[in-house]
Amino acid sequence: MDKDTIVQKFGGSSVANPERIKAVAERVIGYKNHKCDLVVVVSALGDTTDELIELSAQITDDPPKREMDMLMATGEQISCALLAMAIKSKGHDAISLTGAQVGIKTNRDHTRARIQKIETRRIRKALTKNQIVIVAGFQGVTHDDEITTLGRGGSDLTAVALSKALGACVCEIYTDVEGIYTTDPRIVKEARKIRQITFDEMLEMTSLGAQVMQSRSIEVARKYNIPLHVRSSFCEEDGTMIVKETDKMEEVVVRGVACNKQEAKITICAVPDKPGVAARIFTEISKAGVNVDTIVQNVSHTRLTDISFTVPKNSLTQALATTQTIAKKIGAGEVLHDKNIARVSIVGTGMRSHHGIAAKMFQALAENKINIEMITTSEISISCIIDQQSADMAVRTLHKTFKLEQV
Ligand code: ASP
Ligand code: MG
Repeated sequence: MDKDTIVQKFGGSSVANPERIKAVAERVIGYKNHKCDLVVVVSALGDTTDELIELSAQITDDPPKREMDMLMATGEQISCALLAMAIKSKGHDAISLTGAQVGIKTNRDHTRARIQKIETRRIRKALTKNQIVIVAGFQGVTHDDEITTLGRGGSDLTAVALSKALGACVCEIYTDVEGIYTTDPRIVKEARKIRQITFDEMLEMTSLGAQVMQSRSIEVARKYNIPLHVRSSFCEEDGTMIVKETDKMEEVVVRGVACNKQEAKITICAVPDKPGVAARIFTEISKAGVNVDTIVQNVSHTRLTDISFTVPKNSLTQALATTQTIAKKIGAGEVLHDKNIARVSIVGTGMRSHHGIAAKMFQALAENKINIEMITTSEISISCIIDQQSADMAVRTLHKTFKLEQV
């Protein structure tokens, strides 16, 4: 019978220094002894990628993307070689491979390339020799041998894509937290580790502020139904399984509370209420490369209306400049902004089949005298934009209201 294949990915903090790399080696060998085939994907040591980007900034403001990929790909090459050495020094056979050596073929979109195809021949050959295969994450190669990277956090994507290509039974993501929590345990000490979460819920939690995995990798795992196990590299306990939805999972209405304090709000006052205005405003803003999130526009009774929207805090300056210019052009009024906002969200696939959840959320916030400035919903989430000072209190209240400490 064929052995099961497991893909394990170790993030930067799990391989931050030689001691940790040796500890990962022990752990990996322990697994290998369970008689499965093992492919291990690694990120660069600690903050290496940030440091490499910083280095390039000291050379030029505008480094060519091809050269950025040449530079950034070195980070993962270091960690995969060191891990292979650590495993071999403990008496087990291993081999490190770069993305190019594996044959992770991508398009030519440097610094955020897409995987097109993965060759499995070389990996399979090593596996039949009973070697543990260590793959440098975050990188690939074009059909004309140019080295590419897959976007920040891309080692997750390498791991998921390899799981698909090799038919792995599970893809384990080792990180510095023990799994996905009902909310940030730093804010709510009663936060619980979630045993099972659906791909959709996880994607929603990620986009609403819980950054444990790269979202593209979760999308790919959802598409091919590859179960993900997010767990800590510092303890043995099971973490959180990210899986396809089952009927039973709908029984839990709210799976988690997310909070994002990285957004700012812009309001354009007295916008003429006529066709094409919103299109003009948001075309200009998108041309400036700013990602707009929640947009709210009121019904106007006076032929003038206010439009508010949120943008990432780090694009506020850019967004404000663009908005001011366009506001003048269309004859709108003042442009206001507020950096002191937070997005507080509840997420759960059970919302599809239960009602009254929004009312319960708003009621809980009202009881704590928290004013809601904007509201948005998706099929499985409800988000409120509120004052940042009240954010932690809102998270605690919602966690309690939906009894998440009891799951
Ligand atoms: N080292 C890369 C980054 O920091 C890829 C990864 O960690 O997944 O973005
Ligand atoms: Mg990293």
